[in-house]
Amino acid sequence: MALIRTLKRTIQFLIKELLKECFFIWLAVKGRCLTGDNLAKRGWPHDPLCALCSIDMEDCHHLLVKCPYTNRVWYLLRDRINVHFDIPGRLDLSLADWWQLARTRFQTRYSKAFDTFFMLVCWLVWKERNARVFDQKFNTADLLSADIKEEVAVWRAAGIFQFCE
Ligand SMILES: [Zn+2]
Repeated sequence: MALIRTLKRTIQFLIKELLKECFFIWLAVKGRCLTGDNLAKRGWPHDPLCALCSIDMEDCHHLLVKCPYTNRVWYLLRDRINVHFDIPGRLDLSLADWWQLARTRFQTRYSKAFDTFFMLVCWLVWKERNARVFDQKFNTADLLSADIKEEVAVWRAAGIFQFCE
């Protein structure tokens, strides 16, 4: 019974995380996540520079497509997957267009797994940004990619990922 309760709690946790990721991606694709540009529009306190690289102004497109930190994370993760897709910052595409292009590099049966992977990476990049802004905690891109790999292992154990063999 304890194992079933633990399994049930794990599945409930994963579903909640997936819902948060979906909502975040919806906001990000529309350019509405609470990055520096959108905080400025609302007159809320913010640092205009990207919390991940401190080089460029922070907006959704920079944070998830152009930021050198995010691109380093994708580079490290791509190295572990035996599928070649362009890193987002290498192309002049929106987040949604890059996502659609990258998923074409996977066999059709793995497209949905890539969608989930894409949302997970964006979500954890966003959480890293928030940890820096609100908690002054910093992970290197190497550490974040290692954390993502661990997260993927959990999701894989739950039967969600199958393409990273
Ligand atoms: Zn940046």
